[in-house]
Amino acid sequence: MNHSNRIHNWEFTPLGDPRGYIKPHSIKELWFHTGTKCNLACGFCLEGSSPSDKRLLTPKFEEVKPFIDEALALGVEQFSFTGGEPFLAKDIIKILDYASKFRPCLVLTNGTEPLIKRIDALVQLQIKNQHPVSFRVSIDSPIEREHDMGRGEGNFAKAFVGLRLLHNKGFNISLARHMAKGEDTSVVERQYQALFALNGLPLSMHMVAFPDFLAPGAISNVPHITISCMTKYQTQQQRENYMCANSKMIIKKTDGMQVYACTLVDDDDDYFLATTLAKSMTKTINLKHHRCYSCFALGASCSEM
Ligand code: SF4
Repeated sequence: MNHSNRIHNWEFTPLGDPRGYIKPHSIKELWFHTGTKCNLACGFCLEGSSPSDKRLLTPKFEEVKPFIDEALALGVEQFSFTGGEPFLAKDIIKILDYASKFRPCLVLTNGTEPLIKRIDALVQLQIKNQHPVSFRVSIDSPIEREHDMGRGEGNFAKAFVGLRLLHNKGFNISLARHMAKGEDTSVVERQYQALFALNGLPLSMHMVAFPDFLAPGAISNVPHITISCMTKYQTQQQRENYMCANSKMIIKKTDGMQVYACTLVDDDDDYFLATTLAKSMTKTINLKHHRCYSCFALGASCSEM
């Protein structure tokens, strides 16, 4: 696509209507992507992560620190980390050590060996630093066979080992799950709570449900979001709650560290905003990506804030 077509596509839907947009108002939460390297290789992964994947690279502490410092000056309230599997990142403990001196942290993990191996180092952080590090573990389905079909045999049991370990060491835990089309949410949540009871985990554990976001670069035939959709069907409060209104995500590519609009759009260069947080805050986010429709229609969000 040439430059002017690309800009037109960014600003207008194929029918020529101006796209709905979000103007950022704050950075309450700053996300770091730890790279698309993962010990698992799940077919459904929205990041396309696997043991050999290099679409997004793993940042070092020295590359992350300037963004932590800048975010603190901009009033950030939490640092959050996603991957890939964050506990494969060599510097993750050093990064969490620095970040949790200043703000609470949240790490998204598959709960298996890479996390389990780091548990003692994480306990030390909890003892010495002022702010807590919390964990969100992925359990895609309350049915072991369904989780393991996506993640590989034995990984349901391992993730529960990780969850129990974290809980028994006193960490806050939450859970990420898949949301099936037409599901009866209260029935699904009761199935999870039965598992929590069996594993000695808190029945009130927070669960974050995600629709199928498809693989990176996938084309999805969802409705386009126009300005009138955003004003007719969403309140100002809803617009302010979009992740791209109050958070950013830092990723590392071969050409360096980059600020992206949110955790869900790192496969589209149009969402590369800047190389500093301050500059990224001046950029309007157009809702062009197919995953934006999940935010619009389902209120999808990776945030727990
Ligand atoms: S996916 Fe959601 S949060 Fe991200 S840019 Fe689109 S609307 Fe904003």
